[in-house]
Amino acid sequence: MTGHLLEFRNVVKRFGGVTALDDFSMTLDQSEILGLIGPNGSGKTTSFNVLTGIYGPTEGQVFFEGQEITGADPRAVYEAGIVRTFQRSRLCLSLSIYDNIMIGDTSRLVRGLWSNLISRRRLEEQLDMTRRQARDLVATFSGHLADRMDQPVGALPMIERRRIEICRALISGPRLLLLDEPSAGMTHDETHQLMDDILDVRARGEGLSIIIVEHEMGVIERITDRCIVLSYGRKIAEGTYAEVAADSEVQNAYLGA
Ligand code: ADP
Repeated sequence: MTGHLLEFRNVVKRFGGVTALDDFSMTLDQSEILGLIGPNGSGKTTSFNVLTGIYGPTEGQVFFEGQEITGADPRAVYEAGIVRTFQRSRLCLSLSIYDNIMIGDTSRLVRGLWSNLISRRRLEEQLDMTRRQARDLVATFSGHLADRMDQPVGALPMIERRRIEICRALISGPRLLLLDEPSAGMTHDETHQLMDDILDVRARGEGLSIIIVEHEMGVIERITDRCIVLSYGRKIAEGTYAEVAADSEVQNAYLGA
């Protein structure tokens, strides 16, 4: 048992002769924003992949809300309340804002479809409810887009696309949001606007926890409560950004690189 929202316990992930995660243990609590940092190849993406069920760990265990989810498949992980955004946009550019966000809630829609097949009216009510939720989410992130939900995403600038991706991740009401390099492809100012959005989501007080992988140290410093530094798959430091940035091993492995 674990009292934390998320726990990695002695996780090892090997790819042939490469040890991508080496005895990695970590915890995350409700409402926390955790930064996962480290040089290229240090195991950050692998930790997201192990957590979201893309790969099973070679050794060790993963717990979420007290339940063991080690090796669970991606759909089960998503159903448990863990969602992810990707470094490279996965939006369908020709589809509307609305449709892109609805894709993030397919399992609920499919469940609703089956259970409501007998009642067309109930199905339409459910679609209306999800449509309202999608619009409300967009309104909180980007007020002016809420009246343009039918506009194709491909017509939007990068920051708006990132916001739509976050809305898509949030539409299912997750407990844990994994952000993979949200600053990729954006300007400094856009990145900081997006950080404000993320802090706003947390400030809504719904208990959402966030893990962010990011190269931009300004982002990490600004929005994280705590950081974990990986190097060659091992955790070499943990603490506030100021604490880990002052750590000599971190400076050698990463900041001085
Ligand atoms: P980061 O996200 O910190 O840049 P990764 O988790 O992507 O690091 O990679 C950690 C190590 O694991 C690297 O040496 C990488 O080459 C290796 N690795 C990651 N995924 C695979 C894979 N699917 N097959 C083989 N090696 C992999």
